[in-house]
Amino acid sequence: MAKMSVDDKLGVDRFLTDEGNPHILIDETYNDEKQINRVVMACPAGLYTYEDGKVSFNYEGCLECGTCRVLSSGKLIKSWSYPRGSKGIEFHQG
Ligand code: SF4
Repeated sequence: MAKMSVDDKLGVDRFLTDEGNPHILIDETYNDEKQINRVVMACPAGLYTYEDGKVSFNYEGCLECGTCRVLSSGKLIKSWSYPRGSKGIEFHQG
């Protein structure tokens, strides 16, 4: 069996988006560039962007790893929880 790349493995996962109910909320006014860039670079799904002094986030595609929560030390991330019910990611390759 051929070894799968990370992108290949993520490609077989399934995401059930909880439309309109983001499980992670960020403070879009937070402006510590160094802290924001730590989160932007660390998110394995690349869900954070920081452009022209503005941070933005899309919760769809979240791997629920908790990295952003730990790195933000309660500053950029206003609230973090797992998606409700059966929503969120469904892993298929470990
Ligand atoms: S929990 Fe992980 S995958 Fe989800 S937004 Fe945070 S760092 Fe990215």
